[in-house]
Amino acid sequence: MRSVSTNVAKEKQREERRTRIPSVIDRCPRCNNLGESFMHCLVQCPLAVDVWNQVGITLPFDAADPIPFWRWWLNLMEALQQRSQRRSQASLVANVLWRLWLDKNQRIFERTSSSARTIVAAAVDLNREFHRYHPP
Ligand SMILES: [Zn+2]
Repeated sequence: MRSVSTNVAKEKQREERRTRIPSVIDRCPRCNNLGESFMHCLVQCPLAVDVWNQVGITLPFDAADPIPFWRWWLNLMEALQQRSQRRSQASLVANVLWRLWLDKNQRIFERTSSSARTIVAAAVDLNREFHRYHPP
């Protein structure tokens, strides 16, 4: 269990980050949506919706549902348990999330961006490489 002073120090660091990089907290660097969240960045942003549509994993619910990201994740993992290729699909989901997060950071810190097609291709490549070194 963390001490109170550790939590206070971490909150202070977060506040300093917000001051230095306000766009990280306030606006989506892709669509300029206010009030950005994990759910928006990784699932609901128009680019993320495009990525999920292209990646070939059918989400078992509407991406626009107003649920927190952790609930979305648990629902998706539960749905994948019912599918035959659950291991490769679960790792592909993780790789898509990773590439979406990287794209967001690249837009903020490097002023570069990727298309949905590029993000999907990178996630699929990364997933293929993962399974090459971690066979079933
Ligand atoms: Zn957005």
